[in-house]
Amino acid sequence: MTRVDVAVIGGGIHGAGMAQAAAAAGHSVLLLEERALASGSSSRSSKLIHGGLRYLESGQLRLVHESLHERSTLLRLAPELVRLRRFYIPVYRQTRRRPWQLRAGLSMYAVLAAFRTGARFGTLPRHRWGELEGLRTQDLQAVFWYQDGQTDDALLTAAVMRSAESLGARLAMPGEFIAAELRPDGVTVHYRDGEAAERELHARVLVNAAGPWAAAVAQRVTPRIEVPKLELVQGSHLLLDWPARDYCFYVESPRDGRAIFFMPRHGRTLVGTTEVRFRGDPRLAAASPNELNYLLGVARHYFGAEAARQRVLEIFAGLRVLPAGSGHAFHRSRETLLLPDAALRPRVLSIYGGKLTTWRAVSVRALRMIAGSLPRRRLRARTDELPLTPA
Ligand SMILES: Cc1cc2nc3c(=O)[nH]c(=O)nc-3n(C[C@H](O)[C@H](O)[C@H](O)COP(=O)(O)OP(=O)(O)OC[C@H]3O[C@@H](n4cnc5c(N)ncnc54)[C@H](O)[C@@H]3O)c2cc1C
Repeated sequence: MTRVDVAVIGGGIHGAGMAQAAAAAGHSVLLLEERALASGSSSRSSKLIHGGLRYLESGQLRLVHESLHERSTLLRLAPELVRLRRFYIPVYRQTRRRPWQLRAGLSMYAVLAAFRTGARFGTLPRHRWGELEGLRTQDLQAVFWYQDGQTDDALLTAAVMRSAESLGARLAMPGEFIAAELRPDGVTVHYRDGEAAERELHARVLVNAAGPWAAAVAQRVTPRIEVPKLELVQGSHLLLDWPARDYCFYVESPRDGRAIFFMPRHGRTLVGTTEVRFRGDPRLAAASPNELNYLLGVARHYFGAEAARQRVLEIFAGLRVLPAGSGHAFHRSRETLLLPDAALRPRVLSIYGGKLTTWRAVSVRALRMIAGSLPRRRLRARTDELPLTPA
Protein backbone atom coordinates (compact mmCIF):
# COMPACT_ATOMS: atom_id res chain seq x y z
CA MET A 1 0.00 0.00 0.00
CA THR A 2 1.26 3.52 -0.84
CA ARG A 3 2.26 5.40 2.30
CA VAL A 4 2.51 9.18 2.48
CA ASP A 5 2.79 11.77 5.21
CA VAL A 6 -0.06 13.88 3.82
CA ALA A 7 -2.91 13.01 1.44
CA VAL A 8 -4.81 16.01 0.10
CA ILE A 9 -8.30 15.84 -1.41
CA GLY A 10 -9.04 18.54 -4.00
CA GLY A 11 -6.96 20.34 -6.60
CA GLY A 12 -8.33 23.84 -6.01
CA ILE A 13 -6.20 26.65 -4.61
CA HIS A 14 -6.35 25.28 -1.04
CA GLY A 15 -5.40 21.72 -2.03
CA ALA A 16 -2.53 22.97 -4.21
CA GLY A 17 -1.44 25.34 -1.42
CA MET A 18 -1.48 22.54 1.16
CA ALA A 19 0.49 20.24 -1.18
CA GLN A 20 3.07 22.99 -1.66
CA ALA A 21 3.34 23.83 2.06
CA ALA A 22 3.65 20.18 3.13
CA ALA A 23 6.17 19.34 0.39
CA ALA A 24 8.19 22.48 1.22
CA ALA A 25 8.34 21.26 4.84
CA GLY A 26 9.90 18.02 3.56
CA HIS A 27 6.82 15.76 3.70
CA SER A 28 5.70 13.18 1.16
CA VAL A 29 2.42 14.32 -0.39
CA LEU A 30 -0.20 12.85 -2.70
CA LEU A 31 -3.04 15.06 -3.95
CA LEU A 32 -6.22 13.52 -5.33
CA GLU A 33 -8.25 15.60 -7.78
CA GLU A 34 -11.19 13.88 -9.40
CA ARG A 35 -11.58 16.21 -12.41
CA ALA A 36 -9.07 18.94 -13.27
CA LEU A 37 -7.06 21.46 -11.28
CA ALA A 38 -9.21 24.48 -10.37
CA SER A 39 -12.34 22.85 -11.77
CA GLY A 40 -14.34 24.00 -8.70
CA SER A 41 -14.58 27.50 -7.15
CA SER A 42 -10.93 28.23 -7.95
CA SER A 43 -11.73 29.04 -11.59
CA ARG A 44 -15.04 30.78 -10.90
CA SER A 45 -13.98 33.56 -8.54
CA SER A 46 -13.78 37.29 -9.21
CA LYS A 47 -10.04 36.70 -9.70
CA LEU A 48 -9.05 39.37 -7.23
CA ILE A 49 -6.04 39.16 -4.97
CA HIS A 50 -7.40 41.70 -2.58
CA GLY A 51 -7.89 42.72 1.01
CA GLY A 52 -11.65 42.89 0.50
CA LEU A 53 -12.59 46.52 1.04
CA ARG A 54 -16.20 45.52 1.67
CA TYR A 55 -15.26 43.22 4.57
CA LEU A 56 -14.33 46.30 6.58
CA GLU A 57 -18.06 46.98 6.88
CA SER A 58 -18.61 43.67 8.64
CA GLY A 59 -15.61 44.30 10.91
CA GLN A 60 -13.42 41.49 9.52
CA LEU A 61 -10.22 43.42 10.18
CA ARG A 62 -8.01 40.40 10.83
CA LEU A 63 -9.04 38.88 7.51
CA VAL A 64 -8.49 42.13 5.59
CA HIS A 65 -5.10 42.61 7.22
CA GLU A 66 -3.96 39.07 6.41
CA SER A 67 -5.31 39.35 2.85
CA LEU A 68 -3.46 42.61 2.23
CA HIS A 69 -0.28 41.07 3.56
CA GLU A 70 -0.74 38.12 1.19
CA ARG A 71 -1.49 40.52 -1.66
CA SER A 72 1.94 42.07 -1.29
CA THR A 73 3.57 38.63 -0.92
CA LEU A 74 1.94 37.43 -4.16
CA LEU A 75 2.81 40.63 -6.03
CA ARG A 76 6.41 39.82 -5.13
CA LEU A 77 6.34 36.05 -5.76
CA ALA A 78 4.12 35.99 -8.84
CA PRO A 79 4.52 39.23 -10.81
CA GLU A 80 3.43 37.49 -14.03
CA LEU A 81 0.28 36.15 -12.40
CA VAL A 82 -0.82 38.95 -10.10
CA ARG A 83 -0.89 42.58 -11.10
CA LEU A 84 -2.10 45.72 -9.40
CA ARG A 85 -5.10 47.41 -10.98
CA ARG A 86 -6.70 50.73 -10.28
CA PHE A 87 -10.31 50.55 -9.05
CA TYR A 88 -12.66 53.53 -9.37
CA ILE A 89 -15.60 53.97 -6.99
CA PRO A 90 -18.15 56.51 -8.25
CA VAL A 91 -20.31 58.15 -5.58
CA TYR A 92 -23.64 59.60 -6.73
CA ARG A 93 -26.24 61.61 -4.86
CA GLN A 94 -28.15 58.32 -4.32
CA THR A 95 -25.16 56.13 -3.33
CA ARG A 96 -25.62 54.61 0.14
CA ARG A 97 -21.96 54.78 1.14
CA ARG A 98 -21.17 58.48 1.52
CA PRO A 99 -17.82 60.07 0.56
CA TRP A 100 -16.72 60.37 4.19
CA GLN A 101 -17.41 56.67 4.73
CA LEU A 102 -15.36 55.73 1.66
CA ARG A 103 -12.53 57.98 2.73
CA ALA A 104 -12.54 56.38 6.18
CA GLY A 105 -12.69 52.88 4.67
CA LEU A 106 -9.87 53.53 2.21
CA SER A 107 -7.72 55.09 4.94
CA MET A 108 -8.23 52.01 7.09
CA TYR A 109 -7.42 49.80 4.07
CA ALA A 110 -4.12 51.68 3.58
CA VAL A 111 -3.27 51.30 7.28
CA LEU A 112 -4.04 47.56 7.19
CA ALA A 113 -1.83 47.29 4.08
CA ALA A 114 0.92 48.83 6.25
CA PHE A 115 1.35 51.49 3.53
CA ARG A 116 3.14 48.91 1.35
CA THR A 117 2.78 48.51 -2.45
CA GLY A 118 -0.77 49.21 -3.55
CA ALA A 119 -1.80 51.11 -0.43
CA ARG A 120 -2.24 54.49 -2.17
CA PHE A 121 -5.70 55.88 -2.82
CA GLY A 122 -7.27 59.21 -3.71
CA THR A 123 -10.02 61.00 -5.61
CA LEU A 124 -10.21 61.73 -9.30
CA PRO A 125 -10.75 65.45 -9.84
CA ARG A 126 -13.97 66.45 -11.59
CA HIS A 127 -12.20 67.69 -14.73
CA ARG A 128 -10.89 64.13 -15.28
CA TRP A 129 -14.19 62.27 -14.89
CA GLY A 130 -14.48 62.20 -18.69
CA GLU A 131 -11.53 59.75 -18.74
CA LEU A 132 -13.78 57.07 -17.25
CA GLU A 133 -15.25 55.96 -20.55
CA GLY A 134 -18.99 55.48 -20.57
CA LEU A 135 -19.58 56.14 -16.85
CA ARG A 136 -22.79 58.04 -16.12
CA THR A 137 -21.88 61.46 -14.68
CA GLN A 138 -25.38 62.75 -13.91
CA ASP A 139 -25.68 63.22 -10.11
CA LEU A 140 -22.05 62.13 -9.70
CA GLN A 141 -20.51 63.73 -6.60
CA ALA A 142 -17.07 62.15 -6.26
CA VAL A 143 -14.88 59.42 -7.72
CA PHE A 144 -12.47 57.59 -5.43
CA TRP A 145 -9.65 55.34 -6.61
CA TYR A 146 -7.58 52.70 -4.87
CA GLN A 147 -5.61 49.65 -5.96
CA ASP A 148 -5.99 45.89 -5.64
CA GLY A 149 -4.58 42.79 -7.32
CA GLN A 150 -6.02 40.84 -10.22
CA THR A 151 -5.03 37.34 -11.32
CA ASP A 152 -6.13 34.38 -13.37
CA ASP A 153 -7.34 32.04 -10.64
CA ALA A 154 -6.99 28.81 -12.65
CA LEU A 155 -3.46 29.69 -13.81
CA LEU A 156 -2.49 30.63 -10.26
CA THR A 157 -3.76 27.29 -8.94
CA ALA A 158 -1.83 25.42 -11.65
CA ALA A 159 1.32 27.41 -10.81
CA VAL A 160 1.04 26.55 -7.10
CA MET A 161 0.53 22.87 -7.93
CA ARG A 162 3.55 22.90 -10.22
CA SER A 163 5.59 24.45 -7.42
CA ALA A 164 4.37 21.64 -5.11
CA GLU A 165 5.35 19.01 -7.68
CA SER A 166 8.80 20.54 -8.09
CA LEU A 167 9.21 19.94 -4.33
CA GLY A 168 8.22 16.28 -4.71
CA ALA A 169 4.42 16.30 -4.24
CA ARG A 170 2.53 13.87 -6.48
CA LEU A 171 -0.75 14.55 -8.23
CA ALA A 172 -3.28 11.78 -8.95
CA MET A 173 -5.71 13.18 -11.52
CA PRO A 174 -8.24 11.86 -12.06
CA GLY A 175 -8.13 10.66 -8.48
CA GLU A 176 -11.49 10.38 -6.79
CA PHE A 177 -11.69 10.18 -3.02
CA ILE A 178 -14.21 7.51 -2.00
CA ALA A 179 -13.91 7.03 1.76
CA ALA A 180 -11.46 7.00 4.65
CA GLU A 181 -11.04 5.14 7.93
CA LEU A 182 -9.20 6.52 10.92
CA ARG A 183 -6.40 4.26 12.23
CA PRO A 184 -4.23 4.64 15.33
CA ASP A 185 -1.33 5.85 13.16
CA GLY A 186 -3.23 7.84 10.52
CA VAL A 187 -5.88 7.25 7.89
CA THR A 188 -6.61 4.62 5.25
CA VAL A 189 -7.85 6.40 2.14
CA HIS A 190 -9.87 4.63 -0.57
CA TYR A 191 -9.76 6.25 -3.98
CA ARG A 192 -10.09 5.56 -7.67
CA ASP A 193 -7.61 6.77 -10.24
CA GLY A 194 -8.75 6.83 -13.86
CA GLU A 195 -10.41 3.64 -14.96
CA ALA A 196 -8.61 1.57 -12.35
CA ALA A 197 -10.37 -0.31 -9.62
CA GLU A 198 -10.47 1.07 -6.10
CA ARG A 199 -7.05 1.70 -4.54
CA GLU A 200 -5.90 2.29 -0.98
CA LEU A 201 -3.24 4.45 0.56
CA HIS A 202 -2.12 5.18 4.07
CA ALA A 203 -1.60 8.79 5.14
CA ARG A 204 -0.53 10.11 8.51
CA VAL A 205 -2.88 13.02 7.89
CA LEU A 206 -5.72 13.54 5.42
CA VAL A 207 -6.34 17.14 4.38
CA ASN A 208 -9.85 17.69 3.09
CA ALA A 209 -9.66 20.64 0.67
CA ALA A 210 -12.66 19.72 -1.44
CA GLY A 211 -14.23 23.21 -1.44
CA PRO A 212 -18.03 22.99 -1.85
CA TRP A 213 -17.70 19.18 -1.57
CA ALA A 214 -15.73 19.32 1.70
CA ALA A 215 -18.74 18.45 3.87
CA ALA A 216 -19.52 15.45 1.63
CA VAL A 217 -15.90 14.29 1.90
CA ALA A 218 -15.92 14.69 5.72
CA GLN A 219 -19.12 12.62 5.90
CA ARG A 220 -17.30 9.72 4.26
CA VAL A 221 -14.79 9.39 7.11
CA THR A 222 -15.37 6.63 9.68
CA PRO A 223 -15.72 6.80 12.62
CA ARG A 224 -17.67 10.01 12.11
CA ILE A 225 -15.92 13.36 12.45
CA GLU A 226 -17.50 16.73 13.13
CA VAL A 227 -19.05 18.45 10.11
CA PRO A 228 -20.00 22.09 10.76
CA LYS A 229 -23.27 23.67 9.63
CA LEU A 230 -22.51 25.32 6.31
CA GLU A 231 -24.27 27.05 3.52
CA LEU A 232 -23.36 27.28 -0.15
CA VAL A 233 -23.87 30.68 -1.73
CA GLN A 234 -23.67 30.98 -5.50
CA GLY A 235 -21.91 33.90 -7.15
CA SER A 236 -22.18 34.47 -10.90
CA HIS A 237 -20.15 36.50 -13.36
CA LEU A 238 -20.67 37.41 -16.97
CA LEU A 239 -18.14 38.34 -19.59
CA LEU A 240 -19.51 41.05 -21.85
CA ASP A 241 -18.30 41.58 -25.39
CA TRP A 242 -17.43 45.11 -24.40
CA PRO A 243 -13.85 46.34 -24.84
CA ALA A 244 -12.08 46.42 -21.51
CA ARG A 245 -10.42 49.40 -19.92
CA ASP A 246 -7.18 48.68 -18.08
CA TYR A 247 -8.81 49.68 -14.81
CA CYS A 248 -11.78 48.39 -12.81
CA PHE A 249 -14.97 49.86 -11.41
CA TYR A 250 -16.34 49.06 -7.98
CA VAL A 251 -19.98 50.13 -7.88
CA GLU A 252 -22.96 49.69 -5.61
CA SER A 253 -25.91 47.72 -6.96
CA PRO A 254 -28.81 50.21 -7.10
CA ARG A 255 -31.17 47.41 -6.08
CA ASP A 256 -29.60 46.18 -2.84
CA GLY A 257 -26.34 48.09 -2.31
CA ARG A 258 -24.09 45.06 -2.90
CA ALA A 259 -20.62 45.65 -4.35
CA ILE A 260 -20.33 44.83 -8.06
CA PHE A 261 -17.07 44.85 -10.01
CA PHE A 262 -16.41 45.64 -13.67
CA MET A 263 -12.99 44.28 -14.56
CA PRO A 264 -10.89 43.61 -17.65
CA ARG A 265 -10.50 39.98 -18.71
CA HIS A 266 -9.03 38.82 -22.02
CA GLY A 267 -9.65 42.30 -23.45
CA ARG A 268 -13.38 42.19 -22.57
CA THR A 269 -15.36 43.25 -19.49
CA LEU A 270 -16.09 40.86 -16.63
CA VAL A 271 -19.05 41.79 -14.40
CA GLY A 272 -19.78 40.17 -11.05
CA THR A 273 -21.03 39.02 -8.72
CA THR A 274 -24.33 37.87 -7.27
CA GLU A 275 -25.12 36.09 -3.98
CA VAL A 276 -27.83 33.44 -4.12
CA ARG A 277 -28.35 30.60 -1.69
CA PHE A 278 -27.57 27.25 -3.34
CA ARG A 279 -28.83 23.75 -2.57
CA GLY A 280 -27.99 20.54 -4.35
CA ASP A 281 -25.08 19.05 -6.24
CA PRO A 282 -22.27 21.66 -6.50
CA ARG A 283 -21.49 20.43 -10.04
CA LEU A 284 -24.86 21.85 -11.10
CA ALA A 285 -24.15 25.44 -10.05
CA ALA A 286 -25.20 27.67 -12.96
CA ALA A 287 -26.24 31.29 -13.27
CA SER A 288 -30.00 31.84 -13.42
CA PRO A 289 -31.78 34.31 -15.76
CA ASN A 290 -32.49 36.43 -12.64
CA GLU A 291 -28.77 36.76 -11.89
CA LEU A 292 -28.05 37.64 -15.51
CA ASN A 293 -30.71 40.36 -15.44
CA TYR A 294 -29.45 41.65 -12.09
CA LEU A 295 -25.90 42.12 -13.43
CA LEU A 296 -27.08 43.58 -16.74
CA GLY A 297 -29.29 45.97 -14.73
CA VAL A 298 -26.22 47.24 -12.85
CA ALA A 299 -24.35 47.71 -16.17
CA ARG A 300 -27.33 49.62 -17.59
CA HIS A 301 -27.60 51.80 -14.48
CA TYR A 302 -23.96 52.96 -14.53
CA PHE A 303 -23.00 52.73 -18.19
CA GLY A 304 -26.31 53.11 -20.06
CA ALA A 305 -28.39 50.89 -22.32
CA GLU A 306 -25.47 50.41 -24.72
CA ALA A 307 -23.49 48.45 -22.09
CA ALA A 308 -26.39 46.14 -21.23
CA ARG A 309 -26.94 45.38 -24.94
CA GLN A 310 -23.47 43.87 -25.34
CA ARG A 311 -23.31 40.19 -26.20
CA VAL A 312 -22.73 37.89 -23.21
CA LEU A 313 -19.68 35.83 -24.20
CA GLU A 314 -19.44 33.71 -21.09
CA ILE A 315 -21.32 33.22 -17.88
CA PHE A 316 -20.05 31.21 -14.95
CA ALA A 317 -21.10 30.51 -11.39
CA GLY A 318 -19.07 29.46 -8.35
CA LEU A 319 -19.98 28.48 -4.81
CA ARG A 320 -18.84 30.18 -1.63
CA VAL A 321 -18.76 28.00 1.48
CA LEU A 322 -20.02 30.08 4.41
CA PRO A 323 -21.01 29.29 7.98
CA ALA A 324 -24.77 28.70 8.12
CA GLY A 325 -26.79 31.58 9.53
CA SER A 326 -30.06 33.39 9.18
CA GLY A 327 -28.76 36.86 8.19
CA HIS A 328 -27.68 38.07 4.78
CA ALA A 329 -24.72 36.14 3.32
CA PHE A 330 -22.85 39.42 2.92
CA HIS A 331 -22.45 39.80 6.70
CA ARG A 332 -21.19 36.24 7.29
CA SER A 333 -17.52 35.58 8.06
CA ARG A 334 -15.28 35.03 5.03
CA GLU A 335 -12.55 33.57 7.23
CA THR A 336 -11.33 30.09 6.37
CA LEU A 337 -12.49 27.50 8.88
CA LEU A 338 -9.77 24.94 9.66
CA LEU A 339 -11.36 22.04 11.47
CA PRO A 340 -9.18 19.16 12.77
CA ASP A 341 -10.81 15.94 13.98
CA ALA A 342 -8.85 16.32 17.25
CA ALA A 343 -6.91 19.16 18.83
CA LEU A 344 -3.96 16.92 19.66
CA ARG A 345 -2.54 14.78 16.86
CA PRO A 346 -5.28 15.30 14.25
CA ARG A 347 -5.63 12.70 11.51
CA VAL A 348 -8.04 14.72 9.38
CA LEU A 349 -8.02 18.44 8.79
CA SER A 350 -10.88 20.00 6.82
CA ILE A 351 -10.64 23.38 5.11
CA TYR A 352 -13.99 25.15 4.73
CA GLY A 353 -14.57 28.41 2.87
CA GLY A 354 -11.93 31.10 2.63
CA LYS A 355 -10.47 33.26 -0.09
CA LEU A 356 -8.28 32.74 -3.10
CA THR A 357 -6.03 35.54 -1.81
CA THR A 358 -5.14 33.88 1.50
CA TRP A 359 -4.33 30.33 0.26
CA ARG A 360 -0.64 30.57 1.24
CA ALA A 361 -1.17 31.91 4.76
CA VAL A 362 -4.00 29.42 5.34
CA SER A 363 -1.79 26.54 4.18
CA VAL A 364 1.01 27.58 6.56
CA ARG A 365 -1.52 27.76 9.41
CA ALA A 366 -3.06 24.42 8.50
CA LEU A 367 0.35 22.74 8.35
CA ARG A 368 1.13 24.05 11.82
CA MET A 369 -2.10 22.46 13.09
CA ILE A 370 -1.14 19.01 11.79
CA ALA A 371 2.60 19.26 12.54
CA GLY A 372 2.22 17.18 15.75
CA SER A 373 0.97 14.21 13.68
CA LEU A 374 3.85 14.32 11.21
CA PRO A 375 7.45 13.18 11.55
CA ARG A 376 10.22 15.78 11.55
CA ARG A 377 11.61 16.19 8.03
CA ARG A 378 14.27 18.37 6.49
CA LEU A 379 12.85 21.69 5.33
CA ARG A 380 13.09 22.02 1.54
CA ALA A 381 11.87 25.62 1.12
CA ARG A 382 9.78 28.42 2.59
CA THR A 383 6.61 29.16 0.64
CA ASP A 384 7.04 32.93 1.06
CA GLU A 385 10.25 32.63 -0.95
CA LEU A 386 9.06 30.37 -3.78
CA PRO A 387 8.42 32.22 -7.04
CA LEU A 388 5.29 31.24 -8.97
CA THR A 389 5.21 31.39 -12.75
CA PRO A 390 2.49 30.65 -15.30
CA ALA A 391 2.85 27.48 -17.38
C1 LIG B 1 -18.31 33.89 -6.96
C2 LIG B 1 -17.05 33.85 -6.16
C3 LIG B 1 -16.15 34.89 -6.24
C4 LIG B 1 -14.98 34.85 -5.50
N1 LIG B 1 -14.09 35.85 -5.65
C5 LIG B 1 -12.94 35.83 -4.96
C6 LIG B 1 -11.97 36.83 -5.19
O1 LIG B 1 -12.08 37.67 -6.07
N2 LIG B 1 -10.85 36.80 -4.41
C7 LIG B 1 -10.66 35.87 -3.45
O2 LIG B 1 -9.65 35.95 -2.76
N3 LIG B 1 -11.55 34.87 -3.25
C8 LIG B 1 -12.68 34.81 -4.00
N4 LIG B 1 -13.57 33.79 -3.84
C9 LIG B 1 -13.27 32.69 -2.93
C10 LIG B 1 -12.36 31.63 -3.62
O3 LIG B 1 -12.72 31.47 -4.96
C11 LIG B 1 -12.48 30.30 -2.91
O4 LIG B 1 -12.28 30.46 -1.53
C12 LIG B 1 -11.44 29.28 -3.36
O5 LIG B 1 -11.37 29.20 -4.76
C13 LIG B 1 -11.79 27.93 -2.76
O6 LIG B 1 -10.83 27.00 -3.20
P1 LIG B 1 -10.85 25.53 -2.67
O7 LIG B 1 -9.55 24.92 -3.08
O8 LIG B 1 -11.20 25.47 -1.23
O9 LIG B 1 -12.09 24.82 -3.42
P2 LIG B 1 -12.28 24.46 -4.96
O10 LIG B 1 -11.56 25.36 -5.86
O11 LIG B 1 -13.74 24.30 -5.19
O12 LIG B 1 -11.57 23.04 -5.10
C14 LIG B 1 -12.14 21.84 -4.61
C15 LIG B 1 -11.67 20.72 -5.52
O13 LIG B 1 -12.01 19.48 -4.92
C16 LIG B 1 -12.30 18.55 -5.95
N5 LIG B 1 -13.06 17.44 -5.39
C17 LIG B 1 -14.31 17.49 -4.88
N6 LIG B 1 -14.70 16.26 -4.44
C18 LIG B 1 -13.63 15.43 -4.69
C19 LIG B 1 -13.42 14.03 -4.48
N7 LIG B 1 -14.37 13.21 -3.95
N8 LIG B 1 -12.22 13.49 -4.85
C20 LIG B 1 -11.25 14.28 -5.41
N9 LIG B 1 -11.43 15.60 -5.64
C21 LIG B 1 -12.60 16.17 -5.29
C22 LIG B 1 -13.08 19.39 -6.95
O14 LIG B 1 -13.07 18.80 -8.24
C23 LIG B 1 -12.36 20.72 -6.88
O15 LIG B 1 -11.36 20.83 -7.91
C24 LIG B 1 -14.74 33.78 -4.61
C25 LIG B 1 -15.64 32.73 -4.53
C26 LIG B 1 -16.78 32.74 -5.32
C27 LIG B 1 -17.71 31.58 -5.26
